[in-house]
Amino acid sequence: MATLCVYCSSSDDIADRYPPIARALGTELAHRGHRLIYGGGRVGLMGVTARAVHDAGGHVTGVIPEKLKAREGIAYEFADEMVVTDTMAERKEAMYTRADAFVVLPGGYGTLEEFLEVLTLRQLDYHRRPIALVNTDGFYDPLLRFFDRLYDAKFARVDAETHVHVAPSPEEALDAIENGLPADVSS
Ligand code: AMP
Repeated sequence: MATLCVYCSSSDDIADRYPPIARALGTELAHRGHRLIYGGGRVGLMGVTARAVHDAGGHVTGVIPEKLKAREGIAYEFADEMVVTDTMAERKEAMYTRADAFVVLPGGYGTLEEFLEVLTLRQLDYHRRPIALVNTDGFYDPLLRFFDRLYDAKFARVDAETHVHVAPSPEEALDAIENGLPADVSS
């Protein structure tokens, strides 16, 4: 059993095709016996993921800064565990420290920031934990093209796909993650 950190959108205004991706990830993650750690919100794909994990009998840990928790209606009230931090930076650190692997769903600036941080830390060898990017319907293709440009122009030392499993579906993202987990976590 692994603790998987999921980064994803906090928006409720996105198109109808995105929530099913989060729902599939949450359901499959729980069916495979993994635990979720995430930003603790009930909004957007974050809430969809957490509810799907619970509906499938899984365990949910949220990590939320006091300021966001205090904002009415943002925190997911049914989390099995809710870690409340003073700052956003402490929140990211708590998610990062407890995670065995990272899964990135479609999202906005917050998701990109979280993703790029774990990718940067991976590149610098601060960790060797698997990172999967769920690229259903090519959502992240423009970003991947930009990563190629960074690499071709030698702004990036390695090709992003050396460190990131780009998966066409949540199920394939979980397959890739499980293949990359150390034996003591995956068993
Ligand atoms: P975004 O992609 O900009 O919607 O930001 C989502 C990511 O940033 C999530 O993975 C969260 O960890 C964090 N985040 C942003 N907004 C919120 C919020 N309202 N509640 C909880 N976490 C949030």
